[in-house]
Amino acid sequence: MVNRMDLDGTYSPIGLVTKILKAEPNLKVPVPIEELAYQLDISEIQTLKTKGFEGGLITDENRTYGAILVKKNVNPLRRRYTIGHELGHFLIIHHKPISGTEFLCDREAMKEQNLKAQKRAQKMEAEANRFASLLLMPPPYLNPIINGKSYANLKTVLEIHGHFEVSKEAAAWAYAEYNPEMVAVLIVKDGRYLRHYCKKGFPWITIKRGDKVPDISLVHKQRQIGSLSNSDPTGAEHWIETNYGEPVPIMYEQVLFQSNGYAMIQLKVLQNEDWDYDPDENLTSKQRYQKRQERWQR
Ligand SMILES: [Zn+2]
Repeated sequence: MVNRMDLDGTYSPIGLVTKILKAEPNLKVPVPIEELAYQLDISEIQTLKTKGFEGGLITDENRTYGAILVKKNVNPLRRRYTIGHELGHFLIIHHKPISGTEFLCDREAMKEQNLKAQKRAQKMEAEANRFASLLLMPPPYLNPIINGKSYANLKTVLEIHGHFEVSKEAAAWAYAEYNPEMVAVLIVKDGRYLRHYCKKGFPWITIKRGDKVPDISLVHKQRQIGSLSNSDPTGAEHWIETNYGEPVPIMYEQVLFQSNGYAMIQLKVLQNEDWDYDPDENLTSKQRYQKRQERWQR
């Protein structure tokens, strides 16, 4: 069974989770997050009384003690994620509360994904989220689920959500991040774009937060809650930045209709090697490679 000594000297989300998995080769799924937190020296998990926050952590600089606080009456999936997030703050010992003596994390913090953020607060939250996601959906358990499919389908997000007992949105992050195909998952409410998760290298999405999703989107065809559309061709130029003179990538859209006006949209781009039309046929393979890198790294 893992204990905090096993993690000594490791402070990155991936490093910590790798060591935890190594010490717990028979870790069950869904991951028993509360048990793990106690094993790793969290003394108690209590109800958070401060309004406006999802979770908190009471600790000291040297981490001689740690108590996790979770908002009252949240659904069990959010509770699991919050515990993972706060455990992340506890184990990444250079994390320090922004003000006062305890960590307090709101809903926005729980969605922060930018590990390269300049602001310390933002970066810390992103690291705590990365830790929670990796621990709740360990890549060795997750990859066979994602890679075992013949093509990208939002159905897999639902499978991850059920299998690992995480929210659909947490599942969407992992699904996009580890997908062998070039996908993005957009979170939409009442036909308006909120945020997205995508595989590294996905082209720049031009829609801004709060904007109406393009008219051509399947999301505007009201469908039954819980239903999943086909994956249909869509015009990539409506969604992503395209360059004059370069062919527009071939893109497919699929929509999962959820309750309360929410929807998830999967955008899938066929990668260059899948294209029929090859504008670079006179280039050497090295030149092609460089051009492709430039295209996907923007
Ligand atoms: Zn936090």
